[in-house]
Amino acid sequence: MDVMTKQQRHNCMARIKGKNTKPELIVRRFLWSHGLRYRINYSRLPGKPDLVLTKYRTVIFVNGCFWHGHDGCRYYRLPKSNVEYWTSKIENNKARDQRDRELLSKMGWNVVQIWECQLLPKNRETYLESLLNLLDGIFLESHSVKRYALPDDDDLAIAAENSD
Ligand SMILES: [Zn+2]
Repeated sequence: MDVMTKQQRHNCMARIKGKNTKPELIVRRFLWSHGLRYRINYSRLPGKPDLVLTKYRTVIFVNGCFWHGHDGCRYYRLPKSNVEYWTSKIENNKARDQRDRELLSKMGWNVVQIWECQLLPKNRETYLESLLNLLDGIFLESHSVKRYALPDDDDLAIAAENSD
């Protein structure tokens, strides 16, 4: 599957460009089945994140490796013709993504970028589990109350000696 035929690339691009692309659905089904709720196509935020998890103050982009220029990814391979055109197009997309991420961060959102290749069948389970962990971590951090620190061992020893 290293080389895409014209038809495959066409299908791939059509899929990546459209709404409700398959990778996005994979993420949505997974999160939903784990009890996470989200808004979709929330256009009032920069870059129109694919999923917005308000409870987690997190936005998720599910990015196609080609259109968003996934560096070092085997699925990001420029067509042999019109190289300059494609290069500048993809570079523009990357710059825009970067800008959107920065804006969102400044607004206090956690930004998660998921690449299509991370959702391939062989990577999917591992990746989605790590996504759950990440979201758990974000939730705990944002909802953590100030806890009393437990004394370390030295303090305990001193406390025990002084107790008589
Ligand atoms: Zn990729």
